Amino acid sequence: MSRLFITVGFILCTGAFAQDIDYAKQVISQLSSPEYKGRGYVGDGDKITAKFITNEFIKMNANPAFKDSYTQKFSVSVNTIPGIVSVKLNNIVLIPAIDFLVESSCPSVRGTFSIVQAKRADLSNPSKLEEIIRISSTSFLLIDNIERKNESAEQTKKIDDIISFLKNDNQIQIPGIIMYTSDKLTWDASCFQNVRPIIILKKESVIDSLIKIEFFVESKYIRRYNTQNVAALIPGAVSPDSFIVVTAHYDHLGMMGKDTYFPGANDNASGLAMILNLAKHFSENKPKYTMVFVAFSAEELGILGALAFTENSPINLGKIKFMVNFDLAGTGEEGIKVVNGTVYKKEFIFLNQVNNKDSLLPKIESRGKACNSDQCAFDEKGIPGFYIYTLGGIKAYHDIHDRYETLPLTEFTDYCKLMIRFFNLL
Ligand SMILES: [Zn+2]
Repeated sequence: MSRLFITVGFILCTGAFAQDIDYAKQVISQLSSPEYKGRGYVGDGDKITAKFITNEFIKMNANPAFKDSYTQKFSVSVNTIPGIVSVKLNNIVLIPAIDFLVESSCPSVRGTFSIVQAKRADLSNPSKLEEIIRISSTSFLLIDNIERKNESAEQTKKIDDIISFLKNDNQIQIPGIIMYTSDKLTWDASCFQNVRPIIILKKESVIDSLIKIEFFVESKYIRRYNTQNVAALIPGAVSPDSFIVVTAHYDHLGMMGKDTYFPGANDNASGLAMILNLAKHFSENKPKYTMVFVAFSAEELGILGALAFTENSPINLGKIKFMVNFDLAGTGEEGIKVVNGTVYKKEFIFLNQVNNKDSLLPKIESRGKACNSDQCAFDEKGIPGFYIYTLGGIKAYHDIHDRYETLPLTEFTDYCKLMIRFFNLL
């Protein structure tokens, strides 16, 4: 972190940044297109993506990180929904991901059921709860979660715990649960299959009182699905035995049925575009330390790719000088947030110095430790690092609106410049 390195760093950073944003756009539009199937586990979305990343590393002449391979295989348990997702309420066909979601843990179920509604408040009364369970033994149970707004925090917690029990318990007979919401429909990924389907329904999509549901979902639970991390390295010119690790997850939520996919442009095709841009830069401008670029799978299932990597690392973890994880890199009009910024103060100040010197991003905020993305697996091993995400701009997240076409990439070029300069100065 000396002045000398600062000078060297800035000389190295005269790359053609217009090309970088073009490359980033190409990567993001490609990876969030239907062909990549939401980069999940339906139709080999993860494998198609891993192949794309491997080819990019080969084009750059970056070395394989694992012996003779760019990939590190590991397996996950995952519930997938590759088939039909069809919901009709009172004979009206609903649109998946617009009117409703089925929870990602949904089992295969087909049938026509009556609907009984229960008040949230009644769920916390044991005798009423017993009655509700009895009358919904052959009917879908409808719960209006918008009623939450009239509850105390304590009541909400108690009732939500009862709903969790109703969702998962295999002793009770309820064939399915419908929950009204007024919130944005936000999906996730599941490593288990639930005993009954849970439907999250936009209340405004419903016109009359619900009497009947025709439900058809075809899902598949895979106990051992083989997936892979993809990683490459560029040897350091001065200290090849010390490492700087740059990571981003490439997986997203995949598909909810054969027709609905989650593009994941911001989460996290954008982060992947960032690490590919950085890899491209450092393949043309040799770094001081060995740079390791890792694209993780299975982040959305609980940072499983990052855990597989840190448990079975191709490099000596003790020799990592610093790591940075990029997730949600596609906006930035309000700057960036740095997880662990308050932990690794020296590096945080340093990042700010680089930023201020060249007036790159509007703001750099810091926060403490948080186990919210892949850096957490490194954190647990005591490896110093940041997780950085962009702030401001489009709010699409874990929904079908997280698309390339609406991703602003406001600060992408400056963000990339900032990180190149930061890495050069470490
Ligand atoms: Zn993410």
